[in-house]
Amino acid sequence: MNSAQPPASHFVGGAYIEDAAGAPFECIYPATGEVIARLHAATPAIIERALVSANRAQKEWAALAPVARGRVLRRAADILRERNQELSELETLDTGKPIQETLVADATSGADALEYFGGIAASITGETIPLGQDFAFTTREPLGVCVGIGAWNYPTQIACWKAAPALACGNAMVFKPSELTPLGALKLAEILIEAGAPAGLFNVVQGAGEVGARLIANPLVAKVSLTGSVPTGRKVYAAAADGIRHVTMELGGKSPLIIFEDADIENAVSAAINANFYSTGQICSNGTRVFVHEDIRVDFLERLAARTANARIGDPLNPQTNVGPLISSAQRDKVLAFIAAGRAEGARLVIGGGIPQDQHSGGFFIEPTIFDGVTDDMTIAREEIFGPVLSLLSFKDEAEVVGRANGTEFGLAAGVFTSDIKRGHRIAAALEAGTCWINTYNLTPVEMPFGGVKQSGVGRENARAAIEHYTQIKTVYVAMGDVEAPY
Ligand code: NDP
Repeated sequence: MNSAQPPASHFVGGAYIEDAAGAPFECIYPATGEVIARLHAATPAIIERALVSANRAQKEWAALAPVARGRVLRRAADILRERNQELSELETLDTGKPIQETLVADATSGADALEYFGGIAASITGETIPLGQDFAFTTREPLGVCVGIGAWNYPTQIACWKAAPALACGNAMVFKPSELTPLGALKLAEILIEAGAPAGLFNVVQGAGEVGARLIANPLVAKVSLTGSVPTGRKVYAAAADGIRHVTMELGGKSPLIIFEDADIENAVSAAINANFYSTGQICSNGTRVFVHEDIRVDFLERLAARTANARIGDPLNPQTNVGPLISSAQRDKVLAFIAAGRAEGARLVIGGGIPQDQHSGGFFIEPTIFDGVTDDMTIAREEIFGPVLSLLSFKDEAEVVGRANGTEFGLAAGVFTSDIKRGHRIAAALEAGTCWINTYNLTPVEMPFGGVKQSGVGRENARAAIEHYTQIKTVYVAMGDVEAPY
């Protein structure tokens, strides 16, 4: 087995450091169950060191001309792209995602974020407000030390989506990856140093939830940006509230994908596949409730099942593989329990539903699974599964499907397929979701804002919108005349 052992567990103050007093944990390759790295969780001493070094580096970094900060980020983007092969292999080991995905979706999307925010760093400006003979002006100041906490499905991308805007705005960051995927963020930390970032600007500390909680509670921290589940979001938001800290919450979803009778069926099937089985279904914005108009349900399902049967499940390092394992055995058990609930509650299993027979033992594989005849009240239609399970629901008319699509506590994303352009816009306007796609699904280029409404989150990542969430406005009133007083 390839070893992916990093030189030490944490990256703090510009170098790898270890503190063997921290609780040991193992990084497991999800395709085989083998241990590929052994690490230690951060002790309170490591956490303190990371925050103090971030605080120091932030002052130096914020004093640089923004164009110089941008140059460092753009250099880091170039390095990520040059090393895409090596970084993608590591990402595959860390997550189990097929190499055919990691080569195009992880380090590369991280590089896009660094390039984009590096490019706009010098254009983050305030405004001038005329007030008669007086005037006011605003500046956008950095917040200070930001904490980033990541989920395990896109470890490198999440680290970059948080670090790039934070750093472009003049902040420093301490990042805690998911305990299940500790490796990718360490590479980003190395690369930022190589690109010229000051030591301590971007630090990585390892550990589970309690390390995250300890980071957020530290008075040096100005902001926390979390990518994770709604229950974790509630805890992190509450902890941040205690210190009146800024937050960005990128949380879970149960997003609708609505397919009308006039849709291009082959494209809609492609979207449903991508929206449910890419990354073995472990994507927050997945369109897991596929509402298909009753007139085309039979045709749609036939094509969907036939194409899903062609999925190649197996060794993620084989470039031909397009479905890898889930992240852990616990996640696989959770998904199997949802599949059991789907069956027990009367949904019809069309394809998949179990562990593929021909996989190497030890891996956490599960078949792409399609349920037909799903109703809104079933567990599989209400709860986020975070696995390759597609629920097909049918509908008759527009008002009905919009009401049902919005009938969830989540509001991360939504999609609509139709050849009627007016209907596409009408539905997108009516859907309660932070991101809507018309005639495609799950494309999240850095140029467009991404984030949720309702329980799916607060704030936005990517695009210029992210600047709002990593800066604070200072207003300066400038008086040009005398000061009047009543006495
Ligand atoms: P979790 O909510 O379990 O964990 C997210 C991160 O928070 C992990 O690093 C975790 O550490 C950490 N954490 C857990 N408890 C605390 C705490 N009390 N204080 C601070 N940090 C804490 O999510 P998963 O990792 O299981 O990821 C899956 C979830 O993430 C899904 O709900 C998915 O929808 C969501 N997600 C959202 C995205 C978005 O952009 N909206 C994108 C990707 C995923 P550890 O796990 O190491 O214990």
